[in-house]
Order: sequence, then C-alpha cells, then structure tokens
Amino acid sequence: MLRIFGCRDCGHKMRLAGSRCGYCRAPKEITQRVFPYAVSLTVFLLGVALLLAG
Ligand SMILES: [Zn+2]
Repeated sequence: MLRIFGCRDCGHKMRLAGSRCGYCRAPKEITQRVFPYAVSLTVFLLGVALLLAG
C-alpha cells in the first residue's frame, strides 16, 4: 500500500486504508480516507456500464 498522506498532527506518513494515524492515533481527514475514492470509483464504473449497455 502506498503511503501518500502525511498526518496533519505529527507528519507521520499514513496509508490510505484506516481512519487514524498509525503513530499518534489522530483521526484522518475525510479526503485522506478510502471512502471517497471507493464511492467515485463505483460511480465511474456504473457510468461506464450504462454507456456500454446503452
Ligand atoms: Zn499522526
């Protein structure tokens, strides 16, 4: 897993998965969680499926 985010509290490099910093346990911002990416990917795949079906 890529460690692409830095904790805003301690600067620790965080993975995309999980909802807290692995070092200081500070909660991650919503933009640093996997949820928005999963939602956008699902919407994208649904759009592609609709295009192919139509
Ligand atoms: Zn931290």
